[in-house]
Amino acid sequence: MTAVQTYDFLIVGGGQAGIPLAHDLAKAGHRVALAERRNLGGSCVNFGCTPTKAVIASAHAAFQARRGAVFGLRIPTVEVDFPAVLDRARSILMQSRASLRRGFEKSDNPRLLAGHARFTGRQGGRFRLRVGEESVLARQVVLNTGTRTLLPRVEGLDEVDYLEAANWLDRPQLPEHVIFIGGGYIALEMGQFYRRMGSRVTVVDPASAILDREDSDVVLLLQRLLEAEGLQFRLGSRVTRVAAGRRGITAFVKTGRHGDAIRGSHVFVAAGRRPNTGDLGLKRVGVQVRRDGIIETDERLATSVPGIWAAGDIRGGPMFTHTSWDDFRVLRSQLNGDGSRTTRRVVPYAVYTDPELGRVGATEMEARDSGATVKIGRFPMRNNAKARELSETNGSVKVVVDAETDQVLGAAVLSAHGSELVHLFVTLMNAKAPYSVLRDSIHIHPTLAEGVQSAVASLE
Ligand SMILES: Cc1cc2nc3c(=O)[nH]c(=O)nc-3n(C[C@H](O)[C@H](O)[C@H](O)COP(=O)(O)OP(=O)(O)OC[C@H]3O[C@@H](n4cnc5c(N)ncnc54)[C@H](O)[C@@H]3O)c2cc1C
Repeated sequence: MTAVQTYDFLIVGGGQAGIPLAHDLAKAGHRVALAERRNLGGSCVNFGCTPTKAVIASAHAAFQARRGAVFGLRIPTVEVDFPAVLDRARSILMQSRASLRRGFEKSDNPRLLAGHARFTGRQGGRFRLRVGEESVLARQVVLNTGTRTLLPRVEGLDEVDYLEAANWLDRPQLPEHVIFIGGGYIALEMGQFYRRMGSRVTVVDPASAILDREDSDVVLLLQRLLEAEGLQFRLGSRVTRVAAGRRGITAFVKTGRHGDAIRGSHVFVAAGRRPNTGDLGLKRVGVQVRRDGIIETDERLATSVPGIWAAGDIRGGPMFTHTSWDDFRVLRSQLNGDGSRTTRRVVPYAVYTDPELGRVGATEMEARDSGATVKIGRFPMRNNAKARELSETNGSVKVVVDAETDQVLGAAVLSAHGSELVHLFVTLMNAKAPYSVLRDSIHIHPTLAEGVQSAVASLE
């Protein structure tokens, strides 16, 4: 074992907050180390956002090619080379991973420590940790250890070779029929991807609707569009048991009191995420953790122990790359700035189905439950000129406005490029501007953004 290393800051986990924070603190003159037990970039780069959006792009290209006749094109056959689709995604993520690594090769500060980190105690006013085989002392510690797939209680699950977020990219064979356990955004995005590649897809979820925190009119429209492509939904149903046989996997499904079986080739577990906090030695230093593994923080991202901070998915709340990255900005402000930036923020997100669902703020249901008097604006994308020119008319824009202040409380943009269009509302909300700012601005013609403006104009 080498001598004990001493740092001002040890960052545990090379996720979306940890890496930029390490560089920033080092640039400010602090002695910084970052411990990573696997690959820099964490979930987003290595199996989440980057490769999923890359394969979704392949799926979209295949979908468009199959409907070539709509555009006056004759494309007799469209063949999917599934391993090549995965290779393309892998090469994109490898570029990002390599570039993150290069960032640590330029200097000795911040220092990259390879290995699993855990607290072992305190020493002389510092926290003591073990990183792999090394002992480290740090004045302050930032935890950014991310999540892993939550394994639901399903009999036989540990005996089958299930797919999940962290391993789908390593399976070069196109599944014949994927049964998703869970109907959240990962299941919908990956389900539509496999379907467009040629697989059959069944999504099983105990909730009565997909994405059940969203407004029912929005998700029903999305569900109908996915069903039109051949995805099958078993909602209000639970997979209770899975069993592997010679011809694939059988999922035993319970719907109320009724039970039946679905035969597929694979199951894909997408029933939620679990924080990587159980093996950090948190009890040694007294950090409070909820039963579900979430580390509680205040709006400065401070944990219950002074000097220990938590960022990204492990602090609960919206689990996205951009929120984790914004946690970096919060921590930069708290650790090396004026402390003014906190987690009070407008957080948008997107579901990368086709059409995409771009979302920000309250749903209509949440706004009404909060006691607000609301006005609802809507616009079906089939009435938008650009959408018709692109033959991408699926979806609808919905905006929820406070009838007293005229400020936007939330929006759902189900449209081609909905993840981009929703930013019109994000900016409006951050500026606390009335919706008339969007209504009265000039939008370029023809654009999908005109559809967003039309939804706002419909409030009149
Ligand atoms: C399939 C999928 C698709 C997704 N798509 C999107 C999307 O399109 N857009 C979006 O915004 N979000 C998406 N997400 C969510 C997004 O990936 C996460 O919210 C984001 O990566 C933030 O993670 P993080 O910074 O908290 O930690 P992570 O990025 O998960 O990084 C944590 C790191 O800590 C390391 N680590 C853990 N424990 C230790 C330890 N004890 N010692 C050392 N290292 C440790 C891990 O190896 C990992 O590298 C997706 C997630 C999945 C699973």
